[in-house]
Amino acid sequence: MTQEHLTTIDPLTEEVIATYPYMSDEEAGNVIEASQKAFRDWRLRSLDDRAEVIAAIGAKLREKKEEFAQLMTREVGKLLKDSRDEVDLCAAICDYTASHGPEVLADEEREVDGASAFVTHAPIGIVYGIQPWNFPAYQAVRYSIASLMAGNGVLLKHAENCTGSGAFLRDLYEEAGLPKGLFGVLFITHDQSDAIIEHDLIRGVTMTGSDKAGRHIAAKAGEVVKKTVLELGSNDAYLVLDDADLDLAVKTCVAGRIYNNGQTCVNAKRFIVTEANYDAFVKAYAEQFAAIEMGDPRDENTQLGPMVSKSQREKLHRQVEESVAKGARLVTGGEMPDGKGWFYPATVLADVAPGQPAYEDELFGPAASIIKAKDDEDAMRIANGSRYGLGGGIFSKDVEKARKLAAIHFDTGMVFINSFDVASPSLPFGGVKNSGYGREHGPEGLKEFVNAKAIKIAG
Ligand code: NAD
Repeated sequence: MTQEHLTTIDPLTEEVIATYPYMSDEEAGNVIEASQKAFRDWRLRSLDDRAEVIAAIGAKLREKKEEFAQLMTREVGKLLKDSRDEVDLCAAICDYTASHGPEVLADEEREVDGASAFVTHAPIGIVYGIQPWNFPAYQAVRYSIASLMAGNGVLLKHAENCTGSGAFLRDLYEEAGLPKGLFGVLFITHDQSDAIIEHDLIRGVTMTGSDKAGRHIAAKAGEVVKKTVLELGSNDAYLVLDDADLDLAVKTCVAGRIYNNGQTCVNAKRFIVTEANYDAFVKAYAEQFAAIEMGDPRDENTQLGPMVSKSQREKLHRQVEESVAKGARLVTGGEMPDGKGWFYPATVLADVAPGQPAYEDELFGPAASIIKAKDDEDAMRIANGSRYGLGGGIFSKDVEKARKLAAIHFDTGMVFINSFDVASPSLPFGGVKNSGYGREHGPEGLKEFVNAKAIKIAG
């Protein structure tokens, strides 16, 4: 082990917030054992009983909203407003799960010849989650609440940057009435994480993060034949078609790119605009981007806070510079500011083309890639040319046409028509291609980590 502690650092002041010693292998093993012990009782509790605890977690999240929001903003630099909204979303996930979980997970009678049969959704055991820093609460809540409703135990390895948020959530769940130890938090290295995946008591693995890490984790789980859900990155395309409402498209695409300091898997990232609208879109978009207020994320007027870390900022800047070197046009931003805080200005790249990082890869920060398409068909072709496929959007006044494009042609897991959004508790969330597989939220998410067991009774 090269480093003895996990360290959290405020991205605004660059000062250390806290350090957390790594757990020894034995300590990590104890967290697994405690979760398994609590699981033995939890799995026997009725669906309604479990739903009551989930509802109480939702209430507790609302009660502690301000405290949690302040901690998240401190750890990762999110706008305080976004942190508060995030806690509200987590509480809404608890509400949805508590009210729909018992029905979704109830036993189902099935027709079979000459016998009676039913399917029961049995818990599987402990689900291990590996999560990123960009939504310290939501990332951990969305898989854990579904798995707890299903009767499983849950472990969390959070990203180093938001270690405090992971611990906060564990304590909050227990204060709300979740059995002690059922939801365990691990302070471990990536090597130790590999051993957790192999541990006999771990029955499923869910990971949100980069496709690079996802490949490693899924391969490890594959070696020991354990189911995975992967929620990975993307470079979501928003199509601005010939008949788009241009004002709405510009305004929404600006907000969709800058939301959460530009560090969201489903941020709008590539804007594919047909020739008819291209010049006007670039001009209006750049004007709005150039006016974005960057500053302290706690200040109500701030629209863009600092990026989470020095390394993420450097990576983004390298991608912007390489894109420009390969022919992209820098319309605004693109310069690394001096001074404290890991700020990066709202940046617009136009004439983005194949071969440039802004076209091929994910830019995980406040930099927009604008791409010119010949016509509507060409825009759809460019969008689907990505190796990613998480979300996307369509701007068109012809909603019927947009619905068809979304349903039949858009090769992603989610599509937003004439809007930008992140997640809804009732709608499946997840991607295709290099954006991963499996779903969170909705009935689909509730059934990811259950044993759909078939039981047939003769006669
Ligand atoms: P990352 O993959 O580096 O880290 C994410 C988590 O995985 C962290 O907890 C990290 O410690 C852990 N991790 C990384 N390598 C690991 C390994 N070998 N073994 C065990 N754990 C490992 O991602 P990041 O750069 O911190 O986060 C940003 C990425 O996450 C972006 O690509 C973004 O699009 C993606 N993301 C996806 C979603 C989604 O729902 N699809 C949501 C948020 C973020």
